[in-house]
Amino acid sequence: MKKILILGMALLFGFVVYMGATPAETHAKTTFITIGTGGITGVYYPTGGAIARTVNKKRKEYGIRCTVESTGGSVFNVNAVMSGDLQFGVVQSDRQFQAINGLAEWKDKGPQKDLRAVFSVHPESITLVAAVDAGIKDITDLKGKKVNIGNPGSGQRQNSIDALAAVGIDYKKDMQAEGIKASESAGLLQDGRIDAFFYTVGHPNGSIKEATSGKRKVRFASITGVDKLLAKYPYYAKAKIPASLYPSAENKADVDTFGVKATFVTSAKVPDNVVYAVTKEVFENFEAFKKLHPAYQVLTKKGMLEGLSAPIHPGAMKYYKEAGLK
Ligand code: GLU
Repeated sequence: MKKILILGMALLFGFVVYMGATPAETHAKTTFITIGTGGITGVYYPTGGAIARTVNKKRKEYGIRCTVESTGGSVFNVNAVMSGDLQFGVVQSDRQFQAINGLAEWKDKGPQKDLRAVFSVHPESITLVAAVDAGIKDITDLKGKKVNIGNPGSGQRQNSIDALAAVGIDYKKDMQAEGIKASESAGLLQDGRIDAFFYTVGHPNGSIKEATSGKRKVRFASITGVDKLLAKYPYYAKAKIPASLYPSAENKADVDTFGVKATFVTSAKVPDNVVYAVTKEVFENFEAFKKLHPAYQVLTKKGMLEGLSAPIHPGAMKYYKEAGLK
């Protein structure tokens, strides 16, 4: 009898400790969400981190636990959000347009009808980083060179191909194109294994800092043929890379190129209350959010509703209506 009593008390004690120690994690309705980003030295990865951090602060209130995953980039993220492997993703605005309209990588699969926009984030520019000793000053000098145009799954791969085509360079015939992840580009350039690489990315970022601060001298090569690109594609805009952000690069003046926007997307299948909570927390903590990365300096709440081509998710729309933004 005594033994049963002791056992009973021990079980009860264990139960109390268990409940007391993990109040949030044992929340009956904890919803786990994951954001797909990019390479860890880009801007998508810290962007996912900034959103997750903002949302997780209210974990007890919403029962939402947000995590971040490093991925191959925009195209990978769209596909993972569509398959339900990820709930959110950071995606270039041009890739959002192509996915919802069934273009480029989605030509065979058709329009990704369940893709939903949440908001846009920082501007990204098509950045061509080249070794000075390779004699590359602008994109037309890439003929015959070894160039990383981006891994399949990345946003930049199609931007590189479009930019090259606009100046009459066929990436398959006129140069040696590599399809390596952006996170490896800086190391490959510094090791002399490539002459240049493309990266569609917000500035400043770690990868480009790494590429420009090594022993091998590096410059941003300008992109010519931008007017041709703008006339052909509705989602591209003129852009400049501020030379002052990378003092170790050869450039003294800002560099001409074109750009897109980073956007935050989800699926129609993700519940309204989850998307509402994520949207609300980012917008209600806007000033604190903006401080989380230098690329967010230019953000405005209104601007974050621009550059979206998929329908806005109803959960996000509910917040925008409440806040008078729509
Ligand atoms: N724009 C790149 C892509 O879509 C990622 C840039 C980043 O990670 O900041 O693949």
